[in-house]
Amino acid sequence: MLTTTHVNFDHATFSKQPDYSEKDMRKEFAGLMPLRTIVIYCYDPRVKGIPAAVAREFGDTYPGEVILDADGNEAGTSASMLEVVVAGGRAMDGLRSISVGQHLFGVENIVVVHHTHCGATSFTPDGIIDAFAHEHGKDISNAYPRESISIADFNDSLQHDVALVRNAPGVPNSVNVYGYVYDIDTGELTKAVEDIAD
Ligand SMILES: [Zn+2]
Repeated sequence: MLTTTHVNFDHATFSKQPDYSEKDMRKEFAGLMPLRTIVIYCYDPRVKGIPAAVAREFGDTYPGEVILDADGNEAGTSASMLEVVVAGGRAMDGLRSISVGQHLFGVENIVVVHHTHCGATSFTPDGIIDAFAHEHGKDISNAYPRESISIADFNDSLQHDVALVRNAPGVPNSVNVYGYVYDIDTGELTKAVEDIAD
C-alpha cells in the first residue's frame, strides 16, 4: 500500500524560489565546487578507502572542507572529487551522475574502480536472473545489460566500463577515462586501462 505525506519542501528547492533563473543558478553552482574527478566504485563497506587512494593518484582534494556562505549555511566544498557508489563499481550505474556532474561543475577525469574479492565476482548474470525468477517471480533478464550485471574478469569488466563511459552520449569527449583495480588487502590501486582524451 502506498502512503504519502503532504509536507511542503518548496523553501528548500532552488527552482521554487521567487527570483529563480536557471542560467544564473547554473553559473552560481559552477563556483561551489572545483570538480575535476568523478570516481565510481563499489558500495561494499570494506572499500571506503578507494576515494582517498584515487585522490592521491590524481592529486585531487578529498574529502576537502565545507565552505560557508555569508549566512553561515553550508554552500560549497573545496573537494575536487565526487563519488558514485554502486554495486561492483559498474559504470552503467554512474552515467547519469557523470552528466549531472559535468552540467553543474565540469569534470576532467572519470575513474572506474573495481576491487579484489568483490561480491560482484561471486555470481553470474544467469544466476541472479534465475534467482529472481524463482524467489520473487520477477523477470530481470532484460532489466540490465548482461555485461554490466556481475564481474567475471577484472580486465574485461574495466575495459567494458571505460568503453561504456567513453561512448556514452552524456559524457563529454574531453574527459579522460580510467579503469583501476583496488586491492582490498593492501589498499593498492593498479591501473588496468586508460583512455586519454585526444
Ligand atoms: Zn564490491
